[in-house]
Amino acid sequence: MKTTPPRPIDYRPVTGEHMAVRLCSLRKVHGRGAGAVTALDGIDHDFPAGTFTAVMGPSGSGKSTLMHCAAGLERPTAGTVVLGSRDLGTMSERQLTLLRRDHVGFVFQDFHLIPALSVAANVELPLRLAGRRPDAHRLDDLLSRVGLHDRRRHRPGQLSGGQRQRVALARALITRPEVVFADEPTGALDRASGREVLALLRAAVDDLGATVVMVTHDPQAAAWADEVLLLADGRLVDQLTGPDTTTAETIAARLAALGA
Ligand code: ADP
Ligand code: MG
Repeated sequence: MKTTPPRPIDYRPVTGEHMAVRLCSLRKVHGRGAGAVTALDGIDHDFPAGTFTAVMGPSGSGKSTLMHCAAGLERPTAGTVVLGSRDLGTMSERQLTLLRRDHVGFVFQDFHLIPALSVAANVELPLRLAGRRPDAHRLDDLLSRVGLHDRRRHRPGQLSGGQRQRVALARALITRPEVVFADEPTGALDRASGREVLALLRAAVDDLGATVVMVTHDPQAAAWADEVLLLADGRLVDQLTGPDTTTAETIAARLAALGA
């Protein structure tokens, strides 16, 4: 397994390539009247399919709101979210629920596995919920990729934190989602386990063509991404792209300049 961020591609956006998620003039105001809080204040950004993006910024800058709106968990106040070819603003709550189940993968800081189910059953769950026949080959392949094939019959309680997060990653990938959203996926892990999870996110993009959007406060985690977005006060204030700028040192310096 790779333990340092590989730099295979100097990623440059190319007009006309497929976008996994498009955000256009995205605004989100929580509450109303005197207590209203503007969490997102006009965000425009495209996430190209097959890329790894890190979202950073000070606490309260809108990272979680951005992810929730992009994933169809929250409705924006204004602006549009297009996921794959679907405009989320045109969809009912029921349609959004199905979209999240079938076309979006989620990885959370605290894993969100089902304790009573085996590793294999946790990974298969999104397919079973969708009434789709679990593909044994896909399941075997993903369990092997995350290094847990020999643990497939274990329960989450028998696994370390890093192993649990690798189960969560396999579960997020099983449906071949348009995009995987990861909210502080290494936040509850020690450095070594965190690096394994980051290497697997990177490999999901490079080897499986997955699209990953990861919220993190850790510049070393963000350095695994192709592009780093910096938010402040609900606005996109900086974008770092390319091997020379998406280094932990540069990212940390830009963050510090925001007062993070
Ligand atoms: P981050 O994830 O970067 O810490 P958030 O997206 O959680 O930021 O929050 C952005 C802003 O919106 C903050 O000022 C926060 O207090 C506010 N906010 C977030 N969720 C709500 C909510 N449900 N109700 C009211 N204000 C909220
Ligand atoms: Mg947050």
